[in-house]
Amino acid sequence: MGKVAVTAAVVCGATVCAAAALIVRHRMQSSGKWAKAMAILDDFEDKCATPIGKLRQVADAMTVEMHAGLASEGGSKLKMLISYVDNLPTGDEDGLFYALDLGGTNFRVLRVLLGGKDKHVIKQEFDEVSIPPHLMVGNSAGLFDFIAEALKKFVATEGEGLHPFAGRQRELGFTFSFPVKQSSIASGSLIKWTKGFSIEDAVGEDVVGELTKAMERVGVDLRVAALVNDTIGTLAGGRYNNPDVVAAVILGTGTNAAYVERAQAIPKWHGVLPKSGEMVINMEWGNFRSSHLPLTEYDHELDLESLNPGEQIFEKIISGMYLGDIVRRVLLKMAEEAEFFGDTVPPKLRIPFILRTPDMSAMHQDTSSDLKVVGSKLKDILEIPNTSLKTRKIIVKLCDIVAVRGARLSAAGILGILKKLGRDVTREGDSEKQKSVVALDGGLFEHYTKFSKSMESTLKELLGEEVSEHIVIEQSNDGSGIGAALLAASHSQYLEEC
Ligand code: ADP
Ligand code: MG
Repeated sequence: MGKVAVTAAVVCGATVCAAAALIVRHRMQSSGKWAKAMAILDDFEDKCATPIGKLRQVADAMTVEMHAGLASEGGSKLKMLISYVDNLPTGDEDGLFYALDLGGTNFRVLRVLLGGKDKHVIKQEFDEVSIPPHLMVGNSAGLFDFIAEALKKFVATEGEGLHPFAGRQRELGFTFSFPVKQSSIASGSLIKWTKGFSIEDAVGEDVVGELTKAMERVGVDLRVAALVNDTIGTLAGGRYNNPDVVAAVILGTGTNAAYVERAQAIPKWHGVLPKSGEMVINMEWGNFRSSHLPLTEYDHELDLESLNPGEQIFEKIISGMYLGDIVRRVLLKMAEEAEFFGDTVPPKLRIPFILRTPDMSAMHQDTSSDLKVVGSKLKDILEIPNTSLKTRKIIVKLCDIVAVRGARLSAAGILGILKKLGRDVTREGDSEKQKSVVALDGGLFEHYTKFSKSMESTLKELLGEEVSEHIVIEQSNDGSGIGAALLAASHSQYLEEC
């Protein structure tokens, strides 16, 4: 009896030992995996680093590329396109002006009644129309007739007091956010469609000519007075409200910047003689690249698998279209190589662009103590249930790395523009109050607070306290629509008569 009891105790002890060993081994394995996941994250963080010295190199490279792009055609990754906008709105404009804003699957038509210096914008009205999918891939007459019809209907709803001055033709500013080779303020040929449009017979054509013909066909009399893109519209809208605006930056799905150049700085080969001392340059800065940019293996893969490999490298690390997908790529690597989400890789994690930047920003900005939002985004989007708080914290950290890199590089880009304008330093004799304002627009800047705050504080860090007092980042909502109407006003055929 005693013997049996001893044997039982020995067997029992052995089982306990084996179980304990198993637990220890499991812990060691999982801590090994955890360490591996952390190593992947730390490596990514190191490669994304944007110390101030690096940002200065990026800013300098931006300035150099701006010079090169202006100096010769194809001289730089930065196209530095002449916009032919040499007459930014001053606030004195008056009358009724129209705008058409086309740059995605919806377009907007709007009109503004301007009351001159004292009254500014007296009234504005708009209408939004979505483009039927078959017209995005049909022929140009089909698309432009549809737009012209919408304009005709909108013009017909002009109410009391909302009419152009007697005897004057209605004028329209056209925001067309596709690549265009501009040939005057109101003409330019389409280089290629993007964003899901594919209408071959419009490529190479003057887009204003196409729209004008369509408006004649459907019977609406509007003269296109200015052809611009969203960035230039934002600059014009910003300048109308604040004469110190010198540049505009869009941080939305994509990114771009435009700035006001001195006329003397534009080489003769461009063949333009600005009427005023200024000319707005459309930088197309999304295509900027430099050996100083902190690019990682994830960025290279994203680029290779993109619709435009080798192009828009700056855009691919700072804009809303891509930030979420960079996060997804790092998580996928952590899942594959370190079993970050358990022993199988969540299948959804392999789907490109499944994690959108608004979801990333919601996770990053989650203030709940148990990171509830992170948990529910992982569950709803990636079908990963029951994540631990520790895992969620790591994901927030990953979002932070990606957003902060983008934000700090955007600030470096802005410093590059300020340098080109000689506004990155205070010079003796500068008037105390002389400010330089940069108008910012786009959903990423507007909604991703951690991104915009980081961008603004980095710019301060780069400029130093004294200069920072003279540089203002001003959020400008919907400059692209109203800005085009304002440009129609400042390039009106009736200007001499005003
Ligand atoms: P677009 O650039 O397409 O003209 P917007 O300026 O409205 O349009 O920007 C939309 C983009 O802004 C989205 O594609 C997305 O990347 C980004 N965005 C929108 N909302 C948020 C958000 N809450 N957090 C982060 N990014 C956002
Ligand atoms: Mg936009």
